[in-house]
Amino acid sequence: MRPTTKAATSVGVRIKNISKSFGQTEVLKSINLDILPGEFFTIIGPSGCGKTTLLRIISGFHQPSGGKVFFNDQDVTYLPPWERNIGFVFQNYALWPNMTIFDNVAYGLKIRKKPKDVIREKVKWALDVVDLPGVEKQHPGQLSGGMQQRVAIARAIVIDPALLLLDEPLSNLDAKLRVSLRKHIREIQTELGITAIYVTHDQEEALEISDRIAILNGGMLQQAGRPEELYENPSNLFVAGFLGEANFIEGVLTASGHFQANSLKLSVPGNRPAVDTQATLVIRPENIQVVSSGDGHVEATLIKRYYLGALKRFVAQLADGTTLYLETFQDHTVGDKVWLELGKTRLICEEEIHASA
Ligand code: ATP
Repeated sequence: MRPTTKAATSVGVRIKNISKSFGQTEVLKSINLDILPGEFFTIIGPSGCGKTTLLRIISGFHQPSGGKVFFNDQDVTYLPPWERNIGFVFQNYALWPNMTIFDNVAYGLKIRKKPKDVIREKVKWALDVVDLPGVEKQHPGQLSGGMQQRVAIARAIVIDPALLLLDEPLSNLDAKLRVSLRKHIREIQTELGITAIYVTHDQEEALEISDRIAILNGGMLQQAGRPEELYENPSNLFVAGFLGEANFIEGVLTASGHFQANSLKLSVPGNRPAVDTQATLVIRPENIQVVSSGDGHVEATLIKRYYLGALKRFVAQLADGTTLYLETFQDHTVGDKVWLELGKTRLICEEEIHASA
């Protein structure tokens, strides 16, 4: 059973108009985010979108080209990392191979000149928190990758940081271990009540463990919010496509309040545009149901079936050739003529967004 000692004081982090250029390349463009004390906040986005750069600016390893970083009300923009009271967990563990696990974990306490008995007690506490009691005398090379990363987490939390920063901590581990360790990280963060900022490119990981998520693309913030908000109400096509699977149907939102794409015509609640507007209808595969009657539903033929265990995925083709992915627990046969009920959709057209329940 792990101890439930709370971290000292967790901070809120305010990122205000942060931009960063390396030479002529602008890597971050005016990012604004507010991260609450005790929140598990994840930054995701495709490779090269600026996630690590933003985390390094929050930690003080990089300075921004413009903008400010606040911990609570304190402007820390130009404060060096060692004066920020942060714990940092790196992708590659970054343990010292020639030091014992005890010395690795104790390092931050030693440079803070803590008394020996305090160091012994805190190292034991941190190793208990990460479920690795009794490994003090071993060296990193004697431990598995997952255990080494847990030592790295112990080293980060042993100093009672106000903020825990984790940069893709699981990406060197195999799939099964990633899933169990991400749950463990979330449990530790919740037990300690510590603010955590977590960088990953794995959207499933982000959805599972985060209080809130920020999605970056091309150095720009696309959307920030709770996992459900981002998944169900994406504010643009990038977010809709990056998080989970989605069907995209390009068409026109008419002044009469309909979405029309070839033979598909749906009424859309919400504001009507003054003139017909190009729009994309976004619908998740699980929001398309196969139903028995044709009333108000869309006729289709199932042209492909993928077996995913309990869940089956089908490709359905509409009369005009449009194809849609759907996922269902019911089984069907390729070639079946069916009716489709389109459930929750999201319509994205320029600046305006219309949702249907
Ligand atoms: P990944 O998921 O691949 O780690 P990322 O989203 O974390 O990517 P960053 O590492 O922040 O992206 O890099 C963003 C961009 O900035 C990339 O094009 C990268 O090449 C560039 N970059 C990062 N650090 C430097 C640096 N020190 N000097 C020059 N360019 C850099």
